[in-house]
Amino acid sequence: LLGITLLAIACMTVIALVLTVAKHQTVDLPYSTQYGIVFDAGSTHTSLFLYQWPGNKENNTGIVSQKLTCDVKGDGISSYVTNPPDAGQSLKECIDVAMTAIPPSQLSTTPVYLGATAGMRLLMLENQTQAERILAEVTKAIQSYPFDFRGARILTGMEEGAYGWITINYLLEGFIKYAFDGRWVHPKSGKIQGALDLGGASAQISFTPKDPVKDPGSAFDLQLYGYRYQLYTYSYLCYGKDQALKMLQAYLHMVSAARPSSVVQHPCYHRNYSLTLKLGELYNSPCVVKPLPFDPALKVTFLGTGDSQLCLSLMKSIINLTDCSFYPDCGFNGVYQPPVNGEFFAFSAYFYTFNFLGLAPRTPLPRVLATIESYCNKTWDTLVLEYPKVKETYLRDYCGSAHYIMTILLKGFKFNDSWDQIYFYKQAEDNDIGWTLGYMLNLTNLISSDRPLVITGVQH
Ligand code: AMP
Repeated sequence: LLGITLLAIACMTVIALVLTVAKHQTVDLPYSTQYGIVFDAGSTHTSLFLYQWPGNKENNTGIVSQKLTCDVKGDGISSYVTNPPDAGQSLKECIDVAMTAIPPSQLSTTPVYLGATAGMRLLMLENQTQAERILAEVTKAIQSYPFDFRGARILTGMEEGAYGWITINYLLEGFIKYAFDGRWVHPKSGKIQGALDLGGASAQISFTPKDPVKDPGSAFDLQLYGYRYQLYTYSYLCYGKDQALKMLQAYLHMVSAARPSSVVQHPCYHRNYSLTLKLGELYNSPCVVKPLPFDPALKVTFLGTGDSQLCLSLMKSIINLTDCSFYPDCGFNGVYQPPVNGEFFAFSAYFYTFNFLGLAPRTPLPRVLATIESYCNKTWDTLVLEYPKVKETYLRDYCGSAHYIMTILLKGFKFNDSWDQIYFYKQAEDNDIGWTLGYMLNLTNLISSDRPLVITGVQH
């Protein structure tokens, strides 16, 4: 009898133990994968990003991943001024690709956003009606699909900078990270990275400075996963790679106009390279001031001289590196900027240029300078033979863009003593770096903030 009683007690203890453990165990509920789409309507082209995440883990970092990307054929949407409906039409091929990757039952709950950046900001300055027509046409095109369309709009420069910063730090688990003991912890503050984005028409710099930001116009306070951050972010409109190099062409044209000639020497172009443009093409942007009188049909020919040092020194003609009268510290053009702090990720055209030159993700400064010099000194004939598959305009512009990049990074943003803190990357954790992920995380409440972030910003 005693044996049976002991056995019964033992069994009951085991059952009680099992029940206690079961009560405290977290059981993963079944979930379905969720999807979200963001169009990055950049100045030179549009890309579609399809993201996915497990529907039951909304507030963790690192759970959203990029399922696919699709490059829209043709130029950026701002180039469709004469035929706005074609801007909408151009998106359809990529939408069809995304549709095949999402289960049909989930299309109607998949949010879709379109964000346009500096190409459209410039068009808005030039011709608001045209910009609005293009946005209306892309809206119409996306609305013809069974998605949960949440709007097409132009991002402010501040949003573009801040969302790029959120993307990087989300992907690298800078906000919270999963610890060995299964808890989510706040990593050391040094793990927060700054963001450097060089687009075609604007350039953004975003980071958390050591001291409080002195100009409220470029400060952005946010609370993520229970921690407060003060971000400095500024967007230089017209200082993206393409618009900056256009400003340089216009400057060279303007100084040569004193000697009436349609042939202009260009030190950033390689020897034996020549480019003929109509003035209507050269002055087709609000970033350059048309000479007077102005005949759009007149032509100008730029002749490459491959003079690397002159090319570098000419960068000072398109950006002001000396004026900083209002603030203790500046970036360039007299814009307030606190001293850079911590590590930075440089992406978009920073990466394209450095990657082509074999300088990514990080190269000591003297070797960077020597590599640029030797690339700029090559003749155009040599280059074309060496890189038969690279797009001509990219090949032509790597010299000028490399010198432009070095000028804004070292002299503009003042990375001279912290060159080694910059990493040139295109992706982090297999996701493309850019503003799109940060934008979607915020608008779909996938990031734990005290309230949905409202980044307004001024249209710089
Ligand atoms: P976007 O994001 O469209 O504003 O473009 C960013 C800039 O990168 C533009 O100036 C593009 O022309 C440039 N770009 C894109 N791909 C490459 C590449 N493979 N090599 C050089 N520049 C590029």
